[in-house]
This record gives sequence, C-alpha cells and structure tokens, in this order.
Amino acid sequence: SLTGKTAIITGSNSGIGLGVAWELARAGADVVLNSFTDSEEDHALAAKIAEETGVKARYIKADMSDGAECRALIEQAGRCDILVNNAGIQFVSPIDEFPVDKWNAIIAINLNSAFHTTAVALPMMRAAGWGRIVNIASAHGLTASPFKAAYVAAKHGIVGMTKTVALETAQEPITANAICPGYVLTPLVEAQIPATMKEYGMSREDVIKNVMLERQPSKGFATVEQLGGTAVFLCSDAAAQITGTTISVDGGWTAM
Ligand code: NAD
Repeated sequence: SLTGKTAIITGSNSGIGLGVAWELARAGADVVLNSFTDSEEDHALAAKIAEETGVKARYIKADMSDGAECRALIEQAGRCDILVNNAGIQFVSPIDEFPVDKWNAIIAINLNSAFHTTAVALPMMRAAGWGRIVNIASAHGLTASPFKAAYVAAKHGIVGMTKTVALETAQEPITANAICPGYVLTPLVEAQIPATMKEYGMSREDVIKNVMLERQPSKGFATVEQLGGTAVFLCSDAAAQITGTTISVDGGWTAM
C-alpha cells in the first residue's frame, strides 16, 4: 500500500494524469493534482478523489511551460515521494511549417518541466529515504511518426533523462522509469484527429483505424486506468529493482 506517501502528478485535471491520480489514490497515496488553470472544477476533482478514496487530495495550479512554476509546484506541495511527470501537449505539422512557438511549448511542457520538477523532488525523496519517479513518455519516445517532430524529440528526450536520473539514484531506494503508452483515447488524442484528417485527407473513422490504430496491433486504445495501474506497479516493492527503463503499454506497437 502507498499509504503515507505523497504523489504529485503534473497535468492531472484530465486524461492519463487524472487516471494515474485516481489509481495512486486507490492504492492509498495522498495526491496533488495540477494544471495551469485554477477553476472550481479543478479543485472539485481533488475533493472527489479525497471523498471516494479517503486519501488527502489537493489541487495546485502551476504552468508546466514555466520552469519557476514547475519548481514552485513541488515546493508548495512540501513533500514528494512519488513524482509523475505527465503534463504534455501535442501539435501536428510538417517540420518545415512547424510553428516555432509550438515547438518551444512542446519542449518546455513535455520535457523541460520534468527536469525542473525532478531537480526539486529528488532532495525530498532522499530526505524521506524512498522515492519513485514515473515519467509518462510515449511510444513516440521509442519510435517516430511523420508531422510530430517536437513531440517525438521531447519524448525521446524524456526517455534519455529517465535513464540518467536512474543512474544518479541507482544505489538509493529511488527509481526512475518511463511509461510509454500507445494510443489512449483522451482529450489530447481527440484534439489531433481533425489535423490528422486534414494531413491525410481521411475521414475520422479512417484516421482512428488506419492512422492511429494502424500501428497498434491490438486495434484497441489503452485506458487511463491501465496507465494508472502501471504507475502503481512501478511504485510497488515488486518494482524496486526496475529502474532506468521503459514500460510500453501500447498494444504491441513497438513489437512491430
Ligand atoms: P490530456 O490533454 O487529456 O492531458 C494533458 C494534461 O496536461 C491536462 O491535464 C492538461 O491540463 C495538462 N497540461 C497541458 N499543458 C499544461 C501546462 N502548461 N501546465 C500544466 N499542465 C498542463 O492528454 P493525455 O493524453 O492525458 O496526455 C497526458 C500525457 O500522456 C502527455 O504527456 C502525453 O504526451 C502522454 N501520452 C498520451 C498518449 C495518448 O494516446 N493519449 C499516448 C502517449 C503518451
């Protein structure tokens, strides 16, 4: 059980981050939810998790595109036994037309944020004598697709950083791993369907079947609960010697 541990999950008012927060809370961890907004709904999500699971749950606003805010999130939480770097955005465009601001935002949110949060969380883990870093990378941390230059670069980057952190903590009771999901039907994926339809000149159904799930041999989306379960496993004693590696939850994508 993760009772007594505090988990901070970046980008967790939606999608995979929220699913991971729910599963960590069900496993007993107190959770800190985060996004860049500060709405009643955001705080209500934390209240609902606390009410249904009995753990302590808070929502802390911080914009993961800003390094100082990334650091402030961890400091404000005050304790971090489990760090899940999940915040991420996507943008689809051929590289020669790729907007510079989109490139910079993707590298900042999907990669740089994890550097900043890890730098502040690690000393807290060392002080507590235990820690787990779970980075939500992607099948695109291991392979590429056209039109996703920034995303693929950021996800390969976070896989590399995960390995480095694992080596720097190898002789401590701290692990660092990356989960590499294939397609999960979240708002992030939903949002890229129109652009992909345009890129390929396809219908929505054909984009789902022939572009997205084309590379996912299972022909099914992974679920946020399955991603949450994988994160809980990485926090368990069974995973204490698993560090510096990737776990694919991709329906066979990277086996091809
Ligand atoms: P999502 O859009 O549902 O969730 C993204 C989360 O990040 C949201 O909570 C959003 O509020 C937050 N976020 C975005 N910009 C932020 C910022 N500047 N500061 C703080 N929070 C911010 O998408 P998702 O599919 O759940 O994606 C979560 C992670 O999983 C991302 O890193 C994504 O790359 C990765 N991933 C998703 C899939 C998939 O198929 N959905 C596959 C592989 C990897």
